[in-house]
Amino acid sequence: FPIIRAQNSPDFVPDAKFYKVEAILRPWRIQQVSSALLKMGIRGVTVLDVRGFGAQGGLTERQAGSEFSEDTFVAKVKMEIVVSKDQVEGVITKIIEEARTGEIGDGKIFLTPISDVIRVRTGERGEKAERMMGGHADLSSALSTS
Ligand code: ATP
Ligand code: GLN
Repeated sequence: FPIIRAQNSPDFVPDAKFYKVEAILRPWRIQQVSSALLKMGIRGVTVLDVRGFGAQGGLTERQAGSEFSEDTFVAKVKMEIVVSKDQVEGVITKIIEEARTGEIGDGKIFLTPISDVIRVRTGERGEKAERMMGGHADLSSALSTS
């Protein structure tokens, strides 16, 4: 049963039509990231102000000690973007391009399969709900038919 074995393996990636790209980034890079995403037709984005610690540790960019306490959480912004599977790599590449400084604390991206998307206004589900007017799919089909 190769499928069952794959599901049991630790690096199994569930296949889905949609994925959530969750990016934890430097707050002062968010504007740059979101306008680049908008330019490529990514119109549905949720942002949350968060605080965290990673390798960056304390509040300053270069802190000798690696100690941390609650008052050394660094302010970050989490962007959540649900996109169709074929748009995932493009979105990730764009986020890295726009958010990267090369210094510790640039952030991290997590990828999660999404079971369904439901548009509250219409009750649409799946692809109909995930597609947005003038969104990435619209832009690329307009390009290929013109
Ligand atoms: P409608 O056509 O009814 O306006 P919509 O699909 O444009 O629906 P909104 O109701 O405008 O969606 O979305 C509400 C909020 O949901 C947005 O402000 C955003 O925070 C979040 N959101 C919508 N789509 C996505 C998405 N694909 N990924 C992440 N967040 C999203
Ligand atoms: N995949 C959607 C579309 O092509 C856009 C999704 C999004 O903007 N997050 O219309």
